[in-house]
Amino acid sequence: MNKVAVYPGTFDPITYGHLDILEMGCKIFDEIIICIAERAEKNTLFTLEERVSTVSYIVKDFDNVSVEPLTGLLVKRMEMGGIKFILRGLRAVSDFDYELQMALTNSELDSEIVTVFLPGKHEHLFLSSSIVREVAIHGGDVSKFVPEYVKHKIELKLRGKTCL
Ligand code: ADP
Repeated sequence: MNKVAVYPGTFDPITYGHLDILEMGCKIFDEIIICIAERAEKNTLFTLEERVSTVSYIVKDFDNVSVEPLTGLLVKRMEMGGIKFILRGLRAVSDFDYELQMALTNSELDSEIVTVFLPGKHEHLFLSSSIVREVAIHGGDVSKFVPEYVKHKIELKLRGKTCL
């Protein structure tokens, strides 16, 4: 049976940290669906459509990885597709509380759901989308943190352009 996982997140923007987890996830799962959360409550740099289009471009060469927007509850999306696994990355200790809370909530909502945590690579242990945004907003070079394509999108966005 095909092992399918969803990989949910905000991806504002996608970083090498996200990609580490995706690459490792591909060794475990036959198919991964990246679900990009709308996050209406968060003040995201990129719109949902922009994040979906950027991530789709970045993962275009991965076999068996697809990208879609997520506007409702993750568990509902999973039940619709008969999906049982959630892929998440773990960085430093600071991620743990929130990740555990999410994993327990999701399994409370649907007892068949299993969250699989993978450790990030040590060189990206402190890398987050918010750090990337912060560095870029202040004119720093984010080449070490995101692919060139994403860096370009950030530069466009900070100049007030749409990034679809
Ligand atoms: P969210 O807002 O749901 O936390 P993110 O886009 O920030 O969404 O993160 C999505 C997933 O990617 C999370 O599981 C997060 O822990 C993981 N992740 C992000 N950056 C890294 C990194 N540098 N190393 C390991 N995992 C990471």
